[in-house]
Amino acid sequence: MSELDIPESHPRYESLLTRHRIEEGVEKGITSKQGLIAEGRGEAFDYLLGEQTIPSADEAERVAAAHLLLADHPVLSVNGNVAALVPGETVELAEVTGSAIEVNLFNRTDERMRAIVDHLEAHGADDVKGLSADARIPGLDHERAKVDRDGIYEADVVLVPLEDGDRAEALAEMGKTEIVIDLNPLSRSVQTAAVPIVDNIIRAVPNITAHVRELADSSDGELQEIIDAFDAEEAQTAAENRIRSGRLD
Ligand code: ATP
Repeated sequence: MSELDIPESHPRYESLLTRHRIEEGVEKGITSKQGLIAEGRGEAFDYLLGEQTIPSADEAERVAAAHLLLADHPVLSVNGNVAALVPGETVELAEVTGSAIEVNLFNRTDERMRAIVDHLEAHGADDVKGLSADARIPGLDHERAKVDRDGIYEADVVLVPLEDGDRAEALAEMGKTEIVIDLNPLSRSVQTAAVPIVDNIIRAVPNITAHVRELADSSDGELQEIIDAFDAEEAQTAAENRIRSGRLD
């Protein structure tokens, strides 16, 4: 089945599209088999959220936009699931915010790194980082610590979708402002983030871009006010309550 064969009127359109993209990602050597499991886990949470961007997530996405606009050196981190699900959307967000894109894998292999860089370039990215791996995140084992010096290592704001808890904690300890996108409100990465976004990455990334466009003419002071008014714990709790309450409205 191709993407075009999925009718948009199908009640589970988004979920079918997501599965299709992940499956294709595995076939192309972009997504790992573990990525399939991560996808299944995410889908379960998304079902319980009503497969929609809840108001607290929308607010967090607006705050993420403000951080990316104010940052000196913002970086969007991309793994195999992100590359399969939102390649073009990630390139667009990088363009409107002046962010760098860096590929970062939990199970790093040269083939997969290359395949993801090529895939992002095919979607319009240039100068994708991650291949030089000339710096290390302190406190992590060798392979998972690898980053680019002029990318994540020197970033002040990093968007890390679907990041594992250890790396999220290590990046936060380096003093970076971390924006996390993850459907599991209990994951350690969400609990660690300055801006936790509990939403499907398929909805979250384009919505951050929409907020960036809406905020493009705001002053630094106005952006800072949006950031200061945000309460990360409240956003995390709102998502957890929505999932636990089982209300699908
Ligand atoms: P922890 O953060 O608790 O250490 P983990 O890293 O062990 O969790 P994994 O299953 O490896 O968890 O990571 C996958 C995470 O990505 C899950 O929390 C899942 O909810 C989330 N996820 C999967 N697909 C999506 C998606 N499309 N959008 C947003 N989040 C997703």
